[in-house]
Amino acid sequence: MARPRRTRRGRGHRAGTGGGTVLRPLYDAVLLDRDGTLIEDVPYNGDPEKVRPVPGAREALDRLRAAGFRLAVVTNQSGLARGYFTERQMHAVHARIEELLGPFDHWAVCPHDDTDGCACRKPAPGLVHEAARALGTAPRRCVLVGDIGRDMAAALAAGAAGILVPTPVTRPEEVAEAPAVARDLPGAVTEILRRDRAVRPVVPRTGRAGTVLVARSDSAGDVLVTGPGIRAVAAGAERVVLLCGPRGRAAAELLPGVDEIIEWPLPWIDGSPGPVDPDDMRRLTSRLAAVGADEAVAFTSFHQSPLPLALLLRMAGVPRISAISDDYPGSLLDVRHRVPDGVPEPERALSLAAAAGYALPAADEPVLRLRPDLPAPAVDLPAGDYLVVHPGSSAPARACPPELCAEIVAALAADGHRVLVTGGPGERALTARVAAAGGADLGGAADLAGLARILAGARCVVVGNTGPAHLAAAVGTPVVSLFAPTVPFGQWAPYRVPTVRLGDAGAACRDTRAAVCPVAGHPCLGNLDPAGVVAAVRRLVPG
Ligand SMILES: [Zn+2]
Repeated sequence: MARPRRTRRGRGHRAGTGGGTVLRPLYDAVLLDRDGTLIEDVPYNGDPEKVRPVPGAREALDRLRAAGFRLAVVTNQSGLARGYFTERQMHAVHARIEELLGPFDHWAVCPHDDTDGCACRKPAPGLVHEAARALGTAPRRCVLVGDIGRDMAAALAAGAAGILVPTPVTRPEEVAEAPAVARDLPGAVTEILRRDRAVRPVVPRTGRAGTVLVARSDSAGDVLVTGPGIRAVAAGAERVVLLCGPRGRAAAELLPGVDEIIEWPLPWIDGSPGPVDPDDMRRLTSRLAAVGADEAVAFTSFHQSPLPLALLLRMAGVPRISAISDDYPGSLLDVRHRVPDGVPEPERALSLAAAAGYALPAADEPVLRLRPDLPAPAVDLPAGDYLVVHPGSSAPARACPPELCAEIVAALAADGHRVLVTGGPGERALTARVAAAGGADLGGAADLAGLARILAGARCVVVGNTGPAHLAAAVGTPVVSLFAPTVPFGQWAPYRVPTVRLGDAGAACRDTRAAVCPVAGHPCLGNLDPAGVVAAVRRLVPG
């Protein structure tokens, strides 16, 4: 049902802002569900006269067109399979929609119903793949706007972003699960344009900076999601020195663009901090002064303060400091940046880099990435296809119970998969117990770089919201995310890789940021059905 592509200047050809370079936009295309999103839902409608656009649709779509986005419709039309209307009637409806809402660059339609087992009916990702291909881009460079959970699931399974615009028929659990929610279509468009603007420097730098000190404390995952922001800084600086914590050191070693690493625990960031030692803070201040940085960019997560570090950086004589702070920074910051809730962490970091004047160059794009020269793991990987189950987590509240992980391994093995169970040196007892159900135990067998290589070879990874999920994203491997809702999914989901979210998004631990589950029975992950994991793997790894 494709129609010829109109020629239009792609978004990558727009004039960029930074030092004459052309910046890549955050997204190339916006994909839109039809019924309930673009037009009011009239079940199985084959009559053009009954087409009613949602309020503000034409103006919102024209804003996207004016900004250079390509637009496609991705729609399940099982009325075709059921004989409720003909293809000719559907085309008449689509012609009417274009009359009212303006042209779309592609229509991706699934004509099947649930009994066909096709690869295109949402929540399967087929329509997203088709639309991205037809628009000359990749799913990870698309954002899908839709009104129900199937739309969000299809977007995520393809590696695209999703924004839910609920209607009265949208179920509360679909709203809870969505990576992002807008009140209506114009609101979703405003959010897409805002996110795209946020990663572009308002005031581009003139010339390269000298030495820039970037900081990102906390664990491996936190460091990995900051990678795009650090690469943006590195693209505009002679030298980048990264301050990280002990738990983030191994991840810091994997990041492109980092010339030197300073490892130091920061007691205002660490989850189980030691006391503040004045001598240690004095030593850190002199170490920071010895860097001789021309400026510093202090990256944080959405619930951390950059201000204690900014004070030390000031005492170390750093002349220009940029950070995100809702709290009043006084004279601690030269660039005080603010970010609304719900922004994916990698984009949050990119937006701080942009506020400081740095952007990813055209040759790069906003994805997680590792150094290309990773050492091979010290373990022999199986020759054929395999899946990885990683049962551990940096916080117990975000871990799936071990007995359930074992059931998941057994279910995947029974479905014909070869399963490798990975874990750190401190997780050997856990991985042995889980692997005994039908997988190969690789607990403690590899360091983080080795784990990256193991994940890169996997068809899919089953993991909670913890470092290896972001490591998988950085090597482009699809993730079945067993996601405890203690932090927002939209901020911490594996970034721009095919993903299926599992777990109860509406559980009572939601948004508590708890390290240990505050709810008896750990219901957000404890009630997972292993059959759901098998189905998720099938959605991500067809065949
Ligand atoms: Zn289909």
